Amino acid sequence: MRIHDDIQLDYCDVLLRPKRSALASRSAVNVLREYTFKWCNRTLNATGIVAANMYTTGTFEIARAMQKQNLLAALHKHYSAQEIIDFLTENKKEFGSNDLIFVSSGVSDSDFGKLTTVMNTKLAQNICIDVANGYSPYLMDFVRKVRHTWPDALIMAGNVVTGDMCEDLILNGADIVKVGIGPGSVCTTRKLTGVGRPQFSTVIECADAAHGVGGMICADGGCTVPGDVCKSFCAGADFVMLGGMLAGHEESGGEMSTKIFQTGEVNMVDDEHCAMVLAEKQYKKFYGMSSAYAQEQHYGGLKKYRASEGKVVELPFRGPIEPTLLAILGGMRSCMTYIGAKRLKDMPKCASFYRVNRQLNTIFGNE
Ligand code: 5GP
Repeated sequence: MRIHDDIQLDYCDVLLRPKRSALASRSAVNVLREYTFKWCNRTLNATGIVAANMYTTGTFEIARAMQKQNLLAALHKHYSAQEIIDFLTENKKEFGSNDLIFVSSGVSDSDFGKLTTVMNTKLAQNICIDVANGYSPYLMDFVRKVRHTWPDALIMAGNVVTGDMCEDLILNGADIVKVGIGPGSVCTTRKLTGVGRPQFSTVIECADAAHGVGGMICADGGCTVPGDVCKSFCAGADFVMLGGMLAGHEESGGEMSTKIFQTGEVNMVDDEHCAMVLAEKQYKKFYGMSSAYAQEQHYGGLKKYRASEGKVVELPFRGPIEPTLLAILGGMRSCMTYIGAKRLKDMPKCASFYRVNRQLNTIFGNE
């Protein structure tokens, strides 16, 4: 039995080491990057944060908010072709192009048919092909077919966690490989199957492999705070995909609910009577795309041969998404001044990490 015994790390196992730097302030750094690709000959100007193509985060509303900050979005697969075409038409009028939008696809014949309908309009040029297990031969075949059909498209494909598979996907037509199996906030793959790899180590190995053959990676899942996004870029990710950090907002999908609970405080009404203080709180549902709930909502029930690999959570409602996006970008700018990186692209070059046992002081809670 082979055991890979080199240490595998998550974002929470490391911290960035600050460095003397000539950067005077956060305004001296540039979070935008000019992306050029292996196959697609378009250039993108963006900060490589991508909204996950989950039903709750790959919404048109989140896509709009992301583009306002030069961020990207992968639309979820549950919009109809016509809904996507209508959105892309409007979006092109508003933002001048659909360069920051990925249309998502699975690997079935009907997925290809729907993708073809959208691509034929020439409104979309970025495709995100994803399956839970990127080691399936269907993914490689599908990537080849999509590259053959749309030679100029920007193709992102995944998910895998090893360098060899990143190289293969890129050599077969992907520009960007999406990496991550099991790190997601509402993912239970590791629990159910025992399969996965800590995301920080995944990013380091996959970025190195992808860059070696002229490709890029998108680190998908596992970011819980802006600092994790910074660590991911520093580890070599060209793009970072976020689900949970963007969920629970006004622009996110998912059912809202209101709950009433006791605060634990007591109001004295008079000397003999007191009243419990109640508070009302709003929640928004967020769920994994292979959770039983998602399969019931979007595929008419959990198939017998499939197990649920995702969970459902109710997040306290967070209001509009813009402040969250600004906090992430603010965190990145500050990180860049700490490590002396003037440009987003320089982050890995400027970064070195400490391996740590504890990164946060939680004496007053986890906030
Ligand atoms: P997060 O940013 O929430 O940590 O991770 C988001 C990523 O989790 C998504 O982009 C997707 O790759 C992954 N994901 C979403 N739903 C599920 C699910 O039901 N099961 C698994 N295994 N992964 C999921």
